[in-house]
Amino acid sequence: MRRILLALIFIAPIGGCIDRPEPPRQPPSRTSNRPLPTPQLRQCLSQLSANRAIFTDVADRFYGNGCATVGTVKLAALNTDNATVTVTNLGPVTCGVATPFAAWARYGVDRAAHQILGSRVVRIETFGSYSCRNVAGTSRRSGHATANAIDVAAFVLGDGRRISVLDDWSNGTPAERRFLRVVHDSACKRFGTTLGPGYNEAHANHFHLEADGADFCR
Ligand SMILES: [Zn+2]
Repeated sequence: MRRILLALIFIAPIGGCIDRPEPPRQPPSRTSNRPLPTPQLRQCLSQLSANRAIFTDVADRFYGNGCATVGTVKLAALNTDNATVTVTNLGPVTCGVATPFAAWARYGVDRAAHQILGSRVVRIETFGSYSCRNVAGTSRRSGHATANAIDVAAFVLGDGRRISVLDDWSNGTPAERRFLRVVHDSACKRFGTTLGPGYNEAHANHFHLEADGADFCR
């Protein structure tokens, strides 16, 4: 009897995850059923390549209720001046947000880490992009509902240090706090909306980076 109970426990699905899991996707392919890219998307993809991102196309998907992933890519890695940066936990993102993200990783994050902390960035940890939801406390769809925003949680350096927004924005060493403020400010120059711990409690553990054409930096 006990053995049967144990077996049941092990085959029970693991549920209760707070974040909506990424929907299953077809493997990215250039020969997907996506219509030919618009000239605007083509230009964006070529800019993304110029920014040294390694990526694949993702077929367009529509989830209803204003939620969709259109013109998105899957970032495999970003190349900085002389290293490769991996990006964790990130599903499809619009080309429009991937492009400034690649440039920010190289010119903003990596160079700031080198100058302020004496080590290159090797990994950027995220809380993901696509999520069919509203801006908290409003009836307006979030940039995450169209994969047009990325939530960045932490940076891992070549020397093994991990600088996280949650732990180090207020409580890091002076250099770590300065690094986080510099990369936040450089994000403001590249993204329409940049939100961090200074904005509200909901952003205490990440930077929200969105390519919405707004000019909002907090
Ligand atoms: Zn966000």
